[in-house]
Amino acid sequence: MSQQIEGIRGVLFDIDDTLYDYTGCDRTGLLAHLGERGLLGRFPDAEAAVGLWREIMEVQYARFLTGELTFSGQQRARAREFLDHLGEDGSTLTDEQAAAWFAGYVTHRDAARSAFPDADPTLAALAPHHRLGIVSNSSLHHQREKLDITGLLHHFPADEVLICSDEFGQPKPAAAIFHAGCAALGLAPGEVAYVGDRHDVDGLGARDAGLTAFWLDRTGIGGTPAPGVHLLRGLDELPSLLGH
Ligand SMILES: [Mg+2]
Repeated sequence: MSQQIEGIRGVLFDIDDTLYDYTGCDRTGLLAHLGERGLLGRFPDAEAAVGLWREIMEVQYARFLTGELTFSGQQRARAREFLDHLGEDGSTLTDEQAAAWFAGYVTHRDAARSAFPDADPTLAALAPHHRLGIVSNSSLHHQREKLDITGLLHHFPADEVLICSDEFGQPKPAAAIFHAGCAALGLAPGEVAYVGDRHDVDGLGARDAGLTAFWLDRTGIGGTPAPGVHLLRGLDELPSLLGH
């Protein structure tokens, strides 16, 4: 583990799979939704269903990040493509039908919404000594609600410190969105740490923007980080690394 890092006055966080257990909620929600619709038996096992859903999400969400699809547009596209794979003629669904199918998944996913157990204690430990903010590839309304429902929003009391790509106009790993996060904290990039679960988008993106980059690999199977990217196995390692 790296030694203590000096001079950090602010910390910016990714949300999904960093503070918020996106993968766990997504899996629970999808399996409940497919079970309710009688579609789970179409897959050899639950992992196959989750794998297909994740694969489609990566492709369609990327289209949202580039501005090709709206936020709700990528949701409808995910429903249609998933159903197409099952031979259910997803592409013939109207917008309303595709949105309704996706909403069924959202209902189950939202019932499972949770933060990682180390998120709240880590933010509480950092708050007295650091300015805290968010830089997320998503939309503000959506992410604000996630933080609220999981009890983390009070650590980020002003919307000004919640920088989301949909409103900002550029997603990570663009340096500009990391710099917007630093500006929201009133700090220079050299005074700010960034913490995220994606080595490329979060770790390399933040490092290349001049921030101190922490790559959170909770699984421990992600490999060795690139030079200049610090590895975290849990958020609870962070306060002592930053001197608290
Ligand atoms: Mg993430």
